[in-house]
Amino acid sequence: MAYDSNNIFARILRGEIPCRKAYEDDHVLAFHDIHPQAPTHILVIPKGAYVSAADFGATASDAEIAAFTRAVSRIAAEAGVEGSGYRLISNHGPDSHQEVPHYHVHILGGRQLGRLVTPL
Ligand code: AMP
Repeated sequence: MAYDSNNIFARILRGEIPCRKAYEDDHVLAFHDIHPQAPTHILVIPKGAYVSAADFGATASDAEIAAFTRAVSRIAAEAGVEGSGYRLISNHGPDSHQEVPHYHVHILGGRQLGRLVTPL
């Protein structure tokens, strides 16, 4: 899938749409989800134009991947959920119901999260 530079996270990165920022560095932006599913629900996105986890893993630079991975754990720690626990989710493609076609990881925590997926 080609990257759509008008997706909502690209617009947040360009400052066209506001966000409640949780973290930023040269490669990464993190902000609170607009429809939180848990007391802590933060979205972590790379600043580069990647559609999904598959695209990011295949084409991002080592520096971007390292920065992203380090940022995710740092943001979770700073949000105060490292001790109690948290879940990382990244949706890729239709079966996962990925809504926004810019790679992102959800950090969810602050309550008991239940099972990983809804049983069939
Ligand atoms: P996904 O289904 O993995 O693509 O998740 C997209 C997430 O982006 C959802 O949890 C939405 O609530 C969230 N979202 C959509 N628009 C915004 C926005 N403007 N600011 C913050 N979060 C958003």
